[in-house]
Amino acid sequence: MVKITSFVTRDVRFPTSLDKTGSDAMNAAGDYSSAYCIIKTDSEHEGHGMTFTIGRGNEIVCSAIGLVAPLVVGKDLDEITADWGKTWRYLVSDSQLRWIGPEKGVIHLALGAVVNGLWDLWAKVLNKPVWRIVADMTPEEVVRCIDFRYITDALTPEEAIALLKEVEPTKQDRIKDAEQNKAVPAYTTSAGWLGYSEEKLKALLAQSVKDGFKHFKLKVGGSLEDDKRRLAIAREAIGYDKGNVLMVDANQVWSVPEAITYMNELAQFKPWFIEEPTSPDDVLGHAAIRKALSNTPYGPIGVATGEMCQNRVMFKQFLQAGALTVLQADACRVGGVNECLAILLLARKFGVPIVPHSGGVGLPEYTQHLSTIDYVVVSGKRSLLEYVDHLHEHFEHPASVKDGYIVTPTEPGYSVQMKPHSMDQYSFPGEAGKSWWTSEEAKIILDGPRVV
Ligand SMILES: [Mg+2]
Repeated sequence: MVKITSFVTRDVRFPTSLDKTGSDAMNAAGDYSSAYCIIKTDSEHEGHGMTFTIGRGNEIVCSAIGLVAPLVVGKDLDEITADWGKTWRYLVSDSQLRWIGPEKGVIHLALGAVVNGLWDLWAKVLNKPVWRIVADMTPEEVVRCIDFRYITDALTPEEAIALLKEVEPTKQDRIKDAEQNKAVPAYTTSAGWLGYSEEKLKALLAQSVKDGFKHFKLKVGGSLEDDKRRLAIAREAIGYDKGNVLMVDANQVWSVPEAITYMNELAQFKPWFIEEPTSPDDVLGHAAIRKALSNTPYGPIGVATGEMCQNRVMFKQFLQAGALTVLQADACRVGGVNECLAILLLARKFGVPIVPHSGGVGLPEYTQHLSTIDYVVVSGKRSLLEYVDHLHEHFEHPASVKDGYIVTPTEPGYSVQMKPHSMDQYSFPGEAGKSWWTSEEAKIILDGPRVV
């Protein structure tokens, strides 16, 4: 029996805006940050969970974690995990906190940190990685992890069980694939940030090709001429006929008609999909863009979105509207593992591949589990996963890639446990003499202009 006794929040920010890592058409200079939650127990185990943000406002998420986490203090882990669907409903049902959501925005980001911290704790107690807990469940047990409120018009628990049973007979083969690091092919965005120079773009693309990557994503949406030049460089590096796939990401900068016009201009570079062409809330807009781009003179361009999609209800509508070629749920934004399972099942029902959002600190550590669950338990098909090679050195058990595949995590937990030294060094606002944020160097960011 493990009892939850207390929790701690940490505001940890990495100064990535200094070298423009993570820069795109909407987010010119982010400081990759973690609103971090450590769940303490009366055992030797701790649960570590976090939510990803890009800097300012991280303290608001930490503050919201401080309002959600008390809901589990004093509870036994067994009681929490015995009926996860019920627990999840309980965690979103504080009506005063619900008012500042519901199930969206800062309060849902905070829930993601807490729920993922609970899964990390559970996995450590069971001595398994999170993906393996789900892989070892029966279809009925997987479905019991989910709160089906608001999605039964698209997917009932009975249908979900039937879908899982369809792929169950071959599950053991896929567990073996996972054990041999052949479950989740990786793609890279590391070359494609908008703020990188053309020389850096060329060098990084050449390196990525050498490293065995087959899928490459570039940020677009700054200026059309620049994008044409950058995409030409990319195609020169990866070719058109070598089995390499190009994707582009506009990070929400366009209106619906702008997205259609702009992407027709970029169609000659044959991207597989345009990611986040417009507002993340615009279900019908995405459907219109997908329809308009389904038949360009160079072939179809698909539509992908999801990293800022709030919850399973929004994903349900995107899928019902036929708005998605690829679904990119975020491991934190949607409230943690349980809601992710609901979204994986919805995607399976509608036949849309899942490629979780991983462009952020800690996200590849989480999503390697989710994509493995999708392959082994839910879809039974290999998809793809974004691998961004930044900041992994701060984690005890970092995500990594080998021969173009994600190396399946084997350590117990959910893989986001950060090194104590890294937490202290990048703690915000931080302790004088201990945190980088109190150094002279940090003044460039702290006193600098806000980029708009
Ligand atoms: Mg993106």
